[in-house]
Amino acid sequence: MSVLESSLAAVFDEVVARNPGEVEFHQAVREVLESLGPVVGKHPEYADAEVIRRLCEPERQIIFRVPWTDDSGRVQLNRGFRVEFNSALGPFKGGLRFHPSVYLGIVKFLGFEQIFKNALSGLPIGGGKGGSDFNPRSRSDGEIMRFCQSFMIELYRHLGEYTDVPAGDIGVGQREIGYLFGQYKRITNRYESGTLTGKGLSWGGSQVRTEATGYGTVFFVDEMLRFAGERLEGQRVVVSGSGNVAIYAIEKILELGGRVVACSDSDGFILDERGIDLALLKEVKSARRARLTEYAAARGSAVAYVPGGSIWDVPCDIALPCATQNELDGDGAAALIRNGCRIVAEGANMPTSPDAVRALRGAGVRFAPGKAVNAGGVATSALEMQQNASRDSWTFEYTEKRLEEIMRSIHDRCLETADAYGAPGDYVAGANIAGFTRVADAMLALGII
Ligand code: GLU
Repeated sequence: MSVLESSLAAVFDEVVARNPGEVEFHQAVREVLESLGPVVGKHPEYADAEVIRRLCEPERQIIFRVPWTDDSGRVQLNRGFRVEFNSALGPFKGGLRFHPSVYLGIVKFLGFEQIFKNALSGLPIGGGKGGSDFNPRSRSDGEIMRFCQSFMIELYRHLGEYTDVPAGDIGVGQREIGYLFGQYKRITNRYESGTLTGKGLSWGGSQVRTEATGYGTVFFVDEMLRFAGERLEGQRVVVSGSGNVAIYAIEKILELGGRVVACSDSDGFILDERGIDLALLKEVKSARRARLTEYAAARGSAVAYVPGGSIWDVPCDIALPCATQNELDGDGAAALIRNGCRIVAEGANMPTSPDAVRALRGAGVRFAPGKAVNAGGVATSALEMQQNASRDSWTFEYTEKRLEEIMRSIHDRCLETADAYGAPGDYVAGANIAGFTRVADAMLALGII
């Protein structure tokens, strides 16, 4: 761990003391504070108004009971969360995650990251996150619907297009957003499209929202390469995960001429030296909701399926962790470095552990953090809100162009800010400082609230 400037170390100690056991939240806070040393030196006004301490405390945290009935008639019980972290720049905005690992510390880490990501996008959205420890795996469609309806019966009172606008995250896709929106509409008797994003195209959704996080990740990487006088064409890429982010990252890499040789799920990874067959991957993962073993079985002996192995052992030029937090650890980083990987860009939220980040950067690997790289998802959610507010719907081409411009400007904002604060080429410092200063200035303007 690097040493924190003393006033920031005091803030960090306070966060740990006030939020015991929430290790992912501590990790996310520390990672931002480590970048803010040069900012507190330059801007005493932030310290005077306790901006950083206030930023680390959510505006509101909601925890609620979610009872539902399974297909055999048994009553099941889960816990629901929504952490409304910061609304200085706009309504709370951020996804819902349904996964058994979800507890308050995960939701807070994601909500905290979301504040800076959303600020960095330049769009008028605050930061929040929610979810449940519900495990959607092998649940029937009816069970998913009843769970979503029960979740919304409690959450609806906290939502609204000017208040708090959830979307999807791990375990929450268009199907779940549909059930959540249907229930919200029924409870409120209002068709308020702008209250949830990630909707289907025929009921208020935006073109490109499904693809946005993955596409945006690749636009960002493409810009990193262009900045260094390189191209994506011909590069060998490894993408962890095989969910929504990974699939559309792979799609855009292929479109831009890159080669993706490996992807993974939580049981193992596939190595397909002929290049991932995207149509088959979509069929297995999106249509059948199945595991990668089915992909391997369909491709035959040309594909190696490695159960329980580390995808980071696969040699590559570019690695995109697109699965979940802390999936790329010190050992994974050492393997990437050994095999000559040159770029790591986070498609997921905080997928690289702090020691892995240190090792990669120490070895000269260009590293870009999730709050910049994967901001395309939430940015396109903000474009969906714009379309809902004006009762309009844009074409795929226009929406994708907007996304691309946003990603390229986030890239430039990171590098310009890093330069201005004496850390040229440092995407982590650039993303954290640019996101922070935008929120902090709004908080100063709005007074002590
Ligand atoms: N869950 C996504 C993220 O981590 C998207 C959130 C949204 O669209 O509100 O940024």
